[in-house]
Amino acid sequence: MSKIKLDSFKCEIEVPGEIDYKYEGEQDSLILYGLKFGIKNKALIYLPVLISEVVVSSLHGVKRAGVCYVVESNSGKKIIRTMISKGHSEFVATYVKGHEETHALIEAGGKSYLEKILKENNLAGKLFKNAKFSSNCSQEDIADVGGQLALYLSYGEAGLKLNL
Ligand SMILES: [Zn+2]
Repeated sequence: MSKIKLDSFKCEIEVPGEIDYKYEGEQDSLILYGLKFGIKNKALIYLPVLISEVVVSSLHGVKRAGVCYVVESNSGKKIIRTMISKGHSEFVATYVKGHEETHALIEAGGKSYLEKILKENNLAGKLFKNAKFSSNCSQEDIADVGGQLALYLSYGEAGLKLNL
């Protein structure tokens, strides 16, 4: 078991396996960080993750908003890093950080925790059309819900009405 701390959801939770998670804050260049991270951990796995983020970010009109890098060490330890790019408004930064920390939560094996917070706050029906996680939900869909949840936890109902 490992403990991971997720600022966006104001929680510290236990997840299975050996996980090393850290939010790296606002970065000048997500790509440069990814290159250094990949070289340091002798892995180039970051590339598919980065590509998917850029595509998703453009869908939201937020260019290269944030990223979640995941590599697995030889010993089986998962190293997860999230970060967002500089220059976002406070609301967008909260959303993007929540989105990326949701990827981290899922990668760490803690998806059920997100479902629990949604239920506790009676938000599952509001944020998910099907009112629950299903096999049809892509990780990006769930990460977007995590972004909205982060806004809700920081700004209440008003956070759900923001037009980012
Ligand atoms: Zn994403």
